[in-house]
Amino acid sequence: MQKNEILLADADICVKCGLCLPHCPTYSKTQNENESPRGRIALIQAWAGDHLDTSEKLLEHIDNCLLCRSCERVCPALVPYGRLIDNFRAQVYLPSEVSSSLSLLKKIAHNKKLNRLAESGLRFYQSTPLQKTARLLKLPKLLGLDKLDRLLPESVYLEAVSTGGNRVIQEVKGNVGLFIGCMGSLLDHETVNAAIRVLTAAGFNVHVPERQTCCGALDLHDGDIATAEDLASANCSAFADQPLDAIVTIASGCGSQLKEYEQTEFAGKVVDISQFLIESSVDLSEQLAPLTGSVCLHTPCSLKNVMREEKGALKLLQQIPGITITALPETIQCCGSAGTYMVEHPLMAAALLNDVLNAALESQPAYLLSSNIGCALHIAAGLRGRGIALEVIHPVVLIARQLKQ
Ligand code: SF4
Ligand code: SF4
Repeated sequence: MQKNEILLADADICVKCGLCLPHCPTYSKTQNENESPRGRIALIQAWAGDHLDTSEKLLEHIDNCLLCRSCERVCPALVPYGRLIDNFRAQVYLPSEVSSSLSLLKKIAHNKKLNRLAESGLRFYQSTPLQKTARLLKLPKLLGLDKLDRLLPESVYLEAVSTGGNRVIQEVKGNVGLFIGCMGSLLDHETVNAAIRVLTAAGFNVHVPERQTCCGALDLHDGDIATAEDLASANCSAFADQPLDAIVTIASGCGSQLKEYEQTEFAGKVVDISQFLIESSVDLSEQLAPLTGSVCLHTPCSLKNVMREEKGALKLLQQIPGITITALPETIQCCGSAGTYMVEHPLMAAALLNDVLNAALESQPAYLLSSNIGCALHIAAGLRGRGIALEVIHPVVLIARQLKQ
């Protein structure tokens, strides 16, 4: 099938019913049909049928999509919206047009040596007065990196990643592989170590393959299908060394990409960590210290709309004695993080984040919890911008902190 025919085959499934419109964050904010799923599908349909030229305006409407896939979840005709957008972007992809922020992120994500170098640089940047001085002198802005710099926490938790749990497992329930993700290995060692500790406490041997690499989401959603496929092959081979019951993820942005790998044996084993523990009938309640006070649970779009595993985190957190959990109302849409969207579309990302923060702060939570590092960084930056000291952590970090031993 020709490439345009593939696009048309997917776009033609849309019956233009409009049921997806109220669920689309960009349509909700703009009330513009071209900023809706139905509008974007119609634009791609016209382009693929040679009725519309490739124009800046057309690309802008497609680029403004968060790929949150809320539309796909509610579509009665089952339009494969994510695939349609990725395939369209692959056809109009121009490597030379990648922004400096995205290009830097991709280099760090793909190259382990560069990732480690960035980690050491970050440690130095934050453990000396360098970060404060650079910000005072507005250096990040001069270097075009201010949007990335604002996402950095005041201090990144960079404890060494442990390669296994400290406990002796009495009764081994199974073997799991842990997918860390490039941002997890760079910015979020606490979640990585918490995942290993909790999985071990639950009775699982945890394997963290050294050869794993970036999931490829940044590349796929930017139209670079060839690089995304290379990364997928590298990950499948990295996790093939051990017989594993599951490949557990701690960032739903990565998990949603891994679940859609064409290598079905690998994809079929991918599961969000909270969902995995619940599906494995793990009950940690007797091992957890009580927590008084409330927490607010944010559910990332990738966990809800792509992985479709949003129930796990709530059920796992309910095992903490005394906890009160407030979920964000159904009316709250995407937080605006969406991979690199928060860096490339700061105005829309900020407008969506405002809604999330306003709703989240209503219950005056002691913690804000999110299962995706991109969302957590974006939400934490928004809280810092408002001068609010509220920790944003992964649900499994809270579980690990409450473990009695
Ligand atoms: S994408 Fe689905 S829900 Fe939206 S207009 Fe088309 S058929 Fe209807
Ligand atoms: S993926 Fe999200 S932002 Fe894009 S059209 Fe669908 S609902 Fe709207």
